[in-house]
Amino acid sequence: MAVSNIPPAPPIAGARHLHSGKVRDLYELEEGPYAGELLMVASDRISAFDHVFDTTIPDKGEILTRLSLWWFEQLEDLVPNHVMSTDVPEEVKGRAVICQRLHMFPVECVARGYLTGSGLREYAATATAPGGHSVCGIPLPDGLVDGSRLTAAIFTPATKAELGDHDENVTFEQVARQIGEDDASELRRLTLAVYHRAEEIARGAGLILADTKFEFGVRQDDLGIRAIVLGDEVLTPDSSRYWDAAQWHPGNAIPSFDKDVIRRWLLSPEAGWAGGPKESGAPPPPLPAEIVEKTRARYVEAYEKLTGHPF
Ligand code: ATP
Ligand code: MG
Repeated sequence: MAVSNIPPAPPIAGARHLHSGKVRDLYELEEGPYAGELLMVASDRISAFDHVFDTTIPDKGEILTRLSLWWFEQLEDLVPNHVMSTDVPEEVKGRAVICQRLHMFPVECVARGYLTGSGLREYAATATAPGGHSVCGIPLPDGLVDGSRLTAAIFTPATKAELGDHDENVTFEQVARQIGEDDASELRRLTLAVYHRAEEIARGAGLILADTKFEFGVRQDDLGIRAIVLGDEVLTPDSSRYWDAAQWHPGNAIPSFDKDVIRRWLLSPEAGWAGGPKESGAPPPPLPAEIVEKTRARYVEAYEKLTGHPF
């Protein structure tokens, strides 16, 4: 299912548009002190069921950008990050960062401390496999349910799919074959270290970080020294699954902090979405103001709970 309805990225003087994803627009800076580096702009777009809505969520781009910057700071002693400056063109102020251009690993580095989503689906699908339940080749005990806490967090990498396709879970060995054993081990180590730090911070804020995705890349400095650097956005509700700790009851689906309001509305009779997400054909209906406001409030709440600052 291809995502075809991403709006064209607005032109920015001194920057060349490179790529637009469901939420972010990526540019290369053509002039100034950061010429050749990247300008990553977070829009207010939101998607669900592989559809980018025409309706936007006010302030979402700024919330995601500020939250990601805050997280990079919390992680600074664990891993270098790609952020160079927040001194960005006026029209994208507050929702863009200038970042080092990295050679990205073609791997979505996922850490899971709790079983849900695609991890749960794979767990269920391997019930009758020779080695029993597993996720990305990692054996797991019987009896786990949606939302179960894993005794130790696991690294469950996925291949980066082309725009609109779904990422596919792969084993550590597949990653090692693709990028080499040393880098694969380092990505696993970093992913789990960052997850543990973030999970602890989130728990202190009353949130459970069920799972999250990181993207790393390689930087070569002027002396030719190679470093693995944390890129993309980090630990936002778009890249991570946060639950309210008070609502965590394994065995029940737990509302997450991002699109739960939208997904539930889309599936309700009020939305009148004939066919629903499984049928091709009709795109989902536009979001009513009430759903937009509720969704915005969820993003703001995540930001405020985590950072302890008002948005
Ligand atoms: P989706 O909407 O599914 O996320 P996408 O990943 O193609 O699609 P974005 O996430 O908006 O869209 O795009 C950001 C792109 O920039 C990703 O391909 C990501 O790997 C890449 N990227 C992130 N940080 C850096 C960096 N420092 N250097 C180079 N590329 C980067
Ligand atoms: Mg992406």
